[in-house]
Amino acid sequence: MPTDYANLVDGEMITTESWVDVVNPATEEVIGRVPACGKEELDRAVAAARKAFNSWRKTSMEERREVVLKISETIKDNLDELKRLLTSEQGKPHHQAKGELLGAAGMAKAQSTLSLDEEVTEDSDKRLSRTRRVPVGVVGGIVPWNFPVSMAVQKIVPALLSGCTIVLKPSPFTPLATLRLAELIKDVVPAGTVNIITGHDELGPLITEHPDIDKITFTGSTATGKKIMEGASKDLKRITLELGGNDASIVLPDVDVEKVAEQLFWSSFMNAGQVCIAAKRVYIHEDIYDALSQAIADFAKTVKVGDGAQQGTAVGPIQNKKQYERVLELIQDAKDNGYKFLVGGEEGDPTGSGYYVPITILDNPPEDARIVAEEQFGPVMPLMKFATEDEAIARANASEYGLAGAVWTKDADKGVAIAEQLETGTVWVNEFMQLSPFSPFGGHKQSGFGAEYGKEGLLEFTYPQVITVRRDAAV
Ligand code: NAD
Repeated sequence: MPTDYANLVDGEMITTESWVDVVNPATEEVIGRVPACGKEELDRAVAAARKAFNSWRKTSMEERREVVLKISETIKDNLDELKRLLTSEQGKPHHQAKGELLGAAGMAKAQSTLSLDEEVTEDSDKRLSRTRRVPVGVVGGIVPWNFPVSMAVQKIVPALLSGCTIVLKPSPFTPLATLRLAELIKDVVPAGTVNIITGHDELGPLITEHPDIDKITFTGSTATGKKIMEGASKDLKRITLELGGNDASIVLPDVDVEKVAEQLFWSSFMNAGQVCIAAKRVYIHEDIYDALSQAIADFAKTVKVGDGAQQGTAVGPIQNKKQYERVLELIQDAKDNGYKFLVGGEEGDPTGSGYYVPITILDNPPEDARIVAEEQFGPVMPLMKFATEDEAIARANASEYGLAGAVWTKDADKGVAIAEQLETGTVWVNEFMQLSPFSPFGGHKQSGFGAEYGKEGLLEFTYPQVITVRRDAAV
């Protein structure tokens, strides 16, 4: 029997008459139902957030910090239950679900140390001018299905710390762990400061265009991001958009092939490749191409794909049917074009349940192959051969996306010199997927608008306000 989950509005758990079913991608069974909110419930949540804003905006940073720390503690205190729920709705293996939750708790704790200090910009005999940071107001947060809890927390935390209140919408595919967390923090957050409502995709545009929401913070696809920008333009809402990516890794010939193979594998296959900052194109220098591609393929054969709730599973299913079909379509296109597969590419079992895609590694497909040029968002890794650094940089940059990238080399200075030429918001040298609570994370080009994390991320939830006092005024 599926379990019913409620929404958090104005400090109370509420339900609706209509529901959205939530499916376990490992079994295709309905495991839960969540409220299908519409305009009425949204209006109620926004009104609660507006009312709460009037008092929350006046709180001290200390008071806000305390609430954020309690959210962080609540996640840690309920880790096991939340982990199981997250795996059952998202598909990721238990250890990765635990990693997501601990990451969210850790990020919240670390970011609670950020501050919004005033800056004195003129202090002369004539005048004193100071720039304060004031909260933008009621925030609408919209979250995708690949890291549902960490993305939700990453929207709630800076909203609260800046003095804003929030109405958050999880993805209809993965709302369960977030709603359980909502129930757990119900009495931790002051009523109305955090409201979490669920519904179909249609609830998204209602949030974007709601006249009493002042800012949208969104994580999801570039296509939806563009719609949000358009919707938000009607009343000039502030926006932060974290969008898609087609991240490139560049591997120089000086690396130790055996040592980097496993790391490169996980840089593409973590969360079954459903990571905005996964390595989706891997450029390997021709001198080591054969040895390294073989080492990655050998490692891939040791990795178990399966139900994330079962021990030993390292790569789970694709989270939803639509994305599953899209990844299969990209693989079929690669087959139809005769591209060579190092791993995968054979016929699957169409009768089995669960959205499983086998690990798929392609051997030097052309740059214009769909599986290279498009964001796959699945367990797919195209390996490509390059001859010169300039060529690798040009190929990495030939994308409408600009989220992140990586350079692998023993020569860190050379790695940095290449990193500085990549057109992305983040570049790692000799690691992958590391986000810091204190560094801004945001996409260049069509990978985003603005940034999350760090001081810069926090400032996006504020307006600058300059107050100037004339000291020698004749009044
Ligand atoms: P999506 O854009 O389909 O959906 C994201 C959210 O937007 C969901 O909650 C959905 O219900 C809502 N939504 C759908 N249509 C909407 C509309 N017209 N207006 C407002 N909201 C709407 O994305 P997804 O498929 O859930 O997530 C996968 C995408 O997210 C990938 O492209 C991935 O790269 C990207 N992503 C980016 C980051 C990042 O930080 N840059 C992180 C994770 C995922």
